[in-house]
Amino acid sequence: MAYDVEAIRKKLKQSQAGKYTDPDEFKPAKAKDGTTAIRYRFFILPPLQLGFKLKSGEVLKDMEQFYIQHANHWVNDRPHPCPRVWSSEECPVCKFGFDMLKEEKDEDKRRAIIKQWMPTTYQAVNIYFPHWKHNPEDLRGKVKWYNAPKTLFDHWTATLMKDDAGDPEEPEAHGVFFDESAAYLYQLEVLKQGKQNSYRTSHFLANGGIGQPMVKDEDGSLNEKGVATLLRLRHNLWDKLEEPDMAKIKKLYSVMVEGDDDDDDGGGGFDSDETKSETKPTKTKTKTKTKTEYKKPPKDDDEDVVDHIDPGPADDAPDPGPSDESSSLADEAPIDDTDSDSPEPVAATADSGEESNEISALLSQLEDDD
Ligand SMILES: [Zn+2]
Repeated sequence: MAYDVEAIRKKLKQSQAGKYTDPDEFKPAKAKDGTTAIRYRFFILPPLQLGFKLKSGEVLKDMEQFYIQHANHWVNDRPHPCPRVWSSEECPVCKFGFDMLKEEKDEDKRRAIIKQWMPTTYQAVNIYFPHWKHNPEDLRGKVKWYNAPKTLFDHWTATLMKDDAGDPEEPEAHGVFFDESAAYLYQLEVLKQGKQNSYRTSHFLANGGIGQPMVKDEDGSLNEKGVATLLRLRHNLWDKLEEPDMAKIKKLYSVMVEGDDDDDDGGGGFDSDETKSETKPTKTKTKTKTKTEYKKPPKDDDEDVVDHIDPGPADDAPDPGPSDESSSLADEAPIDDTDSDSPEPVAATADSGEESNEISALLSQLEDDD
């Protein structure tokens, strides 16, 4: 039997590093270029409603918004879900960070504190990649879930708040961009900035300021069957996110603080310690084993393919073929094992490209608190 040794080594390394990968999760490729963006187009799908029957099972909890906000403290390249962002409970790690920030006026030191103590926030959404020629082949027609960073989320909320298309000369996307019958495509653009991904130039496609059905018949009208399939293929985001565990976060906190022997006199003494503090969290590796428990991807053999239904946006048209009957049902889609070469995911260590945004958001939040 011919084994792919490189693939096996890669997988081994990933599992040794504790980097679980969920085949249902979309991670943009790492940008290699500061001027030519890697582009993706997708629709953000509507929120899950209680009782809705997904392919992966029934939804047991309403999503109040089109996204679920959550956050991870990244320690040692491992995510630790933050209870403060999840449910407004007190998080000892955040509290420690906030307390230090209140004492610290120096901008650089504040950033260092934020980097170490504050979590990275994400908005989890379901997204659908239509058959657009620049979408990687293994994504076309698929529904994935995505931990969207703040930059994108800001675009989305700004669009949601717009009442109309604005200047008729340059109409814009506006309103409920995730309405399956009148939606706007989002173009994600990934550029290299320093060593990181930047998503700043991403935007909605205006489509003349008129929303379009996510799945269309050849005449451009809503393909109801296709849309129904699409909605059923959404992932149960509640199952995808690990809920914070207060006991675990307390443990993490004590390990993080314990490592800090000569800093007992409080936040004021922090400055001289920054380099050391970088290494502190290493200890957590042995002590707080965050189980990499993704409640198993609800994965049977078939791929989540919305097949033959979406001709995609106007500027391309790989013939989607007639969209009728069960051919559009993913359950009957051919087995297709494309996941193994999905684009190289960005390092799991948070959306570092978004760090500066994240930081300013946190800083402004802190200001509000004061
Ligand atoms: Zn926290």
